[in-house]
Amino acid sequence: MTLKDKVAIVTGGNSGIGKAIALELARLDANIVIDYLVDPTATEALEREIAELGDQSIGVEADVSKIADLQKLVDAAVSRFGRVDIMVNNAGIETRTSVLDTTENQYNKVMDVNLKSAFFGTQIAARQMIKQGGGGRIINITSVHEDWPMPGNTAYCLAKGGMRMLTRTAGLELAPHNILVVGVGPGAVATPINLSTMNDPAKLKQLDAAIPLGRMARPEEIANVVGFLAGDGASYLTATTIFADGGIMHSSVGL
Ligand code: NAP
Repeated sequence: MTLKDKVAIVTGGNSGIGKAIALELARLDANIVIDYLVDPTATEALEREIAELGDQSIGVEADVSKIADLQKLVDAAVSRFGRVDIMVNNAGIETRTSVLDTTENQYNKVMDVNLKSAFFGTQIAARQMIKQGGGGRIINITSVHEDWPMPGNTAYCLAKGGMRMLTRTAGLELAPHNILVVGVGPGAVATPINLSTMNDPAKLKQLDAAIPLGRMARPEEIANVVGFLAGDGASYLTATTIFADGGIMHSSVGL
């Protein structure tokens, strides 16, 4: 399978799962717009890695919670590569706060970075895909927590639950344009977002024990799913979520 001549935007693309997705799509020969928020050095290193794969990429500083910045990502893709074929709404944050202690500021931030960004990222990318013709793919990195409550992380669950319905509803709305909208729902993945668990041997042991496959995912294992969804083999998948969770959602071992 190849994504030759395709152009992908990956939000939160210079770290964790987003970085692995950028590399996987480049490995499949797509050109990549890497969205980053604060770390141009990591982005430049990733651009070099992608160049070594024989593909082109550009890093674009954009805060995905701002609509103007999402437009900037699409404009950068069009001006550098002429089009947008794949939009990966990956950027995300969590506060690990409960319904009793989440502040208005925390609530707004989690909703804006996870959900508002995916909503308007979908809108702005889809408008460009419709304008250029030929369909497209929108891939939302959600979570098992689009469906599975996580006490102590309420706003995050709300945002991912919203992404679940965004995926389903936008998938139906955009189907006549052959723009496929699919969610990828990871379980626990070894990335910076999980550093507190990864650095605590007792917590990590408890987590691994709750996962039927016995370990966290590597970011590349999520990126592989995205690579598949971006390609021809996934031409009949839309308005749904693929869970890559090592079986944890159906595990009988509690966390
Ligand atoms: P990560 O390494 O912390 O990556 C999050 C990315 O989002 C970073 O690149 C971060 O940029 C970026 N970001 C945050 N706020 C942003 C903003 N306002 N504008 C642009 N980019 C922003 O964590 P990750 O695990 O790879 O997470 C990626 C996605 O996977 C998230 O949506 C997360 O909810 C989801 N997910 C992760 C897991 C897991 O276990 N790791 C499980 C399920 C779902 P900076 O580094 O510059 O802040």
